[in-house]
Amino acid sequence: MDLFEYQARDIFDKHGVPVLGGVVATTADQARAGAEHLGGGTVVVKAQVKTGGRGKAGGVKLAHSPAEAAEKAGEILGMDIKGHTVHQVMVAAGAQIAEEYYFSILLDRSERRYLAMASVEGGMDIEQLAVERPDALAKVAVDPLVGIDAAKAAQIADAAGFAPDVAGPVAEVFMKLWDVYQGEDATLVEVNPLVRTADGAIVALDGKITIDENAGFRHPDHAALEDAAAADPLEARAKEKGLNYVKLDGSVGIIGNGAGLVMSTLDVVAYAGEAFGGVLPANFLDIGGGASAEVMANGLDIILSDPQVKAVFVNVFGGITACDEVARGIVAALEMLGDHATKPLVVRLDGNNVLEGRAILAAAAHPLVTLADTMDGGAAKAAELANA
Ligand code: GDP
Ligand code: MN
Repeated sequence: MDLFEYQARDIFDKHGVPVLGGVVATTADQARAGAEHLGGGTVVVKAQVKTGGRGKAGGVKLAHSPAEAAEKAGEILGMDIKGHTVHQVMVAAGAQIAEEYYFSILLDRSERRYLAMASVEGGMDIEQLAVERPDALAKVAVDPLVGIDAAKAAQIADAAGFAPDVAGPVAEVFMKLWDVYQGEDATLVEVNPLVRTADGAIVALDGKITIDENAGFRHPDHAALEDAAAADPLEARAKEKGLNYVKLDGSVGIIGNGAGLVMSTLDVVAYAGEAFGGVLPANFLDIGGGASAEVMANGLDIILSDPQVKAVFVNVFGGITACDEVARGIVAALEMLGDHATKPLVVRLDGNNVLEGRAILAAAAHPLVTLADTMDGGAAKAAELANA
């Protein structure tokens, strides 16, 4: 999960990373009040969108009075930045920048380590710098068991070529940013620019944090960081029910057991759909190994609520939960859903107790259910029904 800049700012603050005051505003009037709250001096009005390059897109503007802050907020709110509509701005205390640096910590999967990157030439064009003058961007491996201690921080500052009088203070900030990275279970912490102000302070002026959601159980407070407004309503409902569901754009609803099987089902349906006017899968839904009737009902309920879905393909390989149990689950789910089940269902069962499973579905003879013998056949049938 990527965080907004203002959320990153608050987390930095919590871990002792030096930041400036900031207030979130969703209207020009709130931005004016925010600027007054920050003392009435120069502020920076910054678009809060989860994408980079806001400055270049006109989403970061200086304002010298609360009235000007309101005016700039009015210009930025509603702006489209790389497909992201600006719904809120952060009014941040203005800094007198002497120098702009770059610093980040990320997960280096291929090396199974963390990687710290730093440059004395930070600011807006770090991607360009990395390509054109890679030497100006220091890359230092970080051992996960040691992290960024004083020695590692000094090594990073040295590799990036910080001047001797700045190296000490920035190294202190690197250690605090490591504290953010480790303490919050982040997979990315990036500060661009990390600045030295005219009076010599080191301050994080912009922040980007990606949180590892798999560590959510360790951080009950992270749930509040989610952007509920941006979440797909069906995905939100599925999450509440503990379902592993991702909304896609097509018209064939998919239910399967096991992420690998569901992934291949998506491919097979997309391929079969080519013969039926380019029909595509409507979602990813993995109901897992031990799927009960209730889980099946919850899954079907979510999929049938998607107005784009025209037909559903249930593709289950019976393992520990055998096909007869799955078949009973489907029958029970259709009973539970009653009139809510309105779209045709193609069911392909294979694996453990497949004959019993098929017999149960055949005996139930539900008018919406079609049985398929193979995955390809089922995908083609579902695509055909979705295109009808
Ligand atoms: P980004 O373009 O999305 O990365 O947005 P940033 O928050 O990094 O801001 C872009 C640029 O605006 C920075 O590199 C700075 O040059 C400038 N900027 C940001 N905050 C301030 C500030 O408080 N004072 C001044 N003078 N410039 C700032
Ligand atoms: Mn930036």
